[in-house]
Amino acid sequence: MKAIKRFLQIEDVYKDAAKKLVPTLAERDDFEAEFQYKLPCPSCGDETASGLFYRMLNQDDWYAVSETMKCSVCRDKEAFNVYQRKSLEELRASIGERLTKEYFLLPEDLKDAGFKNFEKTNDVTSKAKENAMTYTKMFLAGDHYNLLIMGNPGTGKSHLCAAIGRTIKGKKDKGSTVGFLTTGKLLSMYKTTYRKGAAKSEEDIFRDIKGIDLLF
Ligand SMILES: [Zn+2]
Repeated sequence: MKAIKRFLQIEDVYKDAAKKLVPTLAERDDFEAEFQYKLPCPSCGDETASGLFYRMLNQDDWYAVSETMKCSVCRDKEAFNVYQRKSLEELRASIGERLTKEYFLLPEDLKDAGFKNFEKTNDVTSKAKENAMTYTKMFLAGDHYNLLIMGNPGTGKSHLCAAIGRTIKGKKDKGSTVGFLTTGKLLSMYKTTYRKGAAKSEEDIFRDIKGIDLLF
C-alpha cells in the first residue's frame, strides 16, 4: 500500500484561513494569501503589527483578511489592563462583601421589613413610603444623595430604612455596599476596640464606615 503524504504548505494554510474569514473567497482558488509584517499598529502606530492579506491573481491590491492585529506591546498592555481591572473588581467585590457582612446589622424585628409590608396609616406615611421608593430607584440608577427621615416614634422610619437597605443590598449586580447600624450597635462596636488584642481599632471602623456606599 502506498502511503499518500500531503505536505501542507504555509501558503495553503494562509489561503485556508482567508477562505474561512472572507465569505467571497470560500469557493475560489484564484487568489494568493500572505502574512504581512511591519504594518502600522492600529493602536500605537509603530510599524510592528502584522496581519493576513489576500490578493486576487493578476491584480495589484492586497486586502486585509481581518483587522490588522495590534502590535505585541499593545496586546500585552491590553491584557494587563484587563487583568488589572479584573483584580480590582474582585478586590472591590470582596471588600464590599466584608463591609456588608460586618455592618449590615438589621435589628431582629426588621429582618423582613420591605415596601410591601409597610403599613401606611395616613397620607404622611404613604408619602414617606413613596419617597423612600423613589430614593431606592434613584440610588440604584446611580444618583446618590442623602435622605433624612423624621417623625414620631413608631411611625415606620426604621421600617422604611430597612426596606431601602434590603432592596439595594439585594441588587448584587449593582455592587453597592450597604450598612445598617443602630447607635447602640455602633457604640458597642467601638467599645470592643478598647479590649486588649482587639481585631479592629477605632480608626479601622471609621475607615470601614466611610467606605460604605449607603449607611443607615
Ligand atoms: Zn501598538
